Amino acid sequence: KRAKKTNPEHLVRQILAGNITALSQAITLVESKNNLHLKTANHIINNCLPHSGNSIRIGITGVPGVGKSTFIEALGNYLTTKNHRVAVLAVDPSSSITKGSILGDKTRMEDLVKNENAFIRPSASGDSLGGVAQHTRESIVLCEAAGYDVIIVETVGVGQSETAVHSMVDFFLLLKLAGAGDELQGIKRGIMEMADTIAINKADGDNLKAAKLAKVEFNRALHLYPLKVSRWQPKVVLCSALKNEGISDIWNVVKLYISQTKENNSFSDKRKEQNTYWFLQTINDALKQEFYSNSNIEIELQKRILQIENSKISPFTAARDLLQLYYSSKEI
Ligand code: GDP
Repeated sequence: KRAKKTNPEHLVRQILAGNITALSQAITLVESKNNLHLKTANHIINNCLPHSGNSIRIGITGVPGVGKSTFIEALGNYLTTKNHRVAVLAVDPSSSITKGSILGDKTRMEDLVKNENAFIRPSASGDSLGGVAQHTRESIVLCEAAGYDVIIVETVGVGQSETAVHSMVDFFLLLKLAGAGDELQGIKRGIMEMADTIAINKADGDNLKAAKLAKVEFNRALHLYPLKVSRWQPKVVLCSALKNEGISDIWNVVKLYISQTKENNSFSDKRKEQNTYWFLQTINDALKQEFYSNSNIEIELQKRILQIENSKISPFTAARDLLQLYYSSKEI
């Protein structure tokens, strides 16, 4: 089926009917830099919003090579056998350089790509983390309206992208490998705190013994953190994405988490908080974008940086100067 016209009402109807071409088209509008496209995108999102929200949103992170795509393929295929419809999105700001390193690579998730109950969409390229994250957040709404009831958002374990993904999902899964004993070394504290579950992947063959030891160590570490507001005690599980082992166990943990957090209302509380967060974040991003793309500001900014470097002006005075300049340019 193809979306015949690009008029927004028609696109919305097609999205609600589960048309993949229409869904892709709408996401492209969301990612566009063209103001007219963005207006259309907003219209579509607002009309999809009443049909969204009825899904489980899962964030997945882990360093390159940990097995994210192998895992998502295994989980995605498993879920479609359980009558779920799975959408896979990505927050990958590095894609602006590598043109979509996470999902853009066509050799990744070869099976899931062919699965008619799965929808895979790479991160848009050429955008900042803020931009990519916001588009993904909006794409979630569109995917849900199109009937996808499990949304997986993948990110690489670098920089701020994990925080962004954490703030748009219900359940955050950290994929790890068993190391050479000191499992906790080099792991960012913030990421451990965000994780609702740690899955130690590649728990197969010669790795199995080390993986079991790692499980004990991670469990011990997780118990040192204060209990989350949701009262959920993060779990550690073993899996082999390659051999399709432990996948159903992880899904059971997700289901347990969802039922537990729905029961004590922390599920909906978290979603409300996330909506407020994205509301404020979008304003912040837009203001910053407007400020820094002002041509006057661009020139003056460079001048001030030189003055600061030469100790001609204090950074605070320079900042106030620039803001003043910006506001006065708005008044005319
Ligand atoms: P990503 O960069 O995190 O997406 O990792 P990939 O999914 O591309 O996997 C990196 C490599 O690890 C590939 O060669 C996979 O075949 C391999 N791999 C992934 N999962 C497992 C697993 O459970 N066990 C083993 N032994 N290898 C795996």
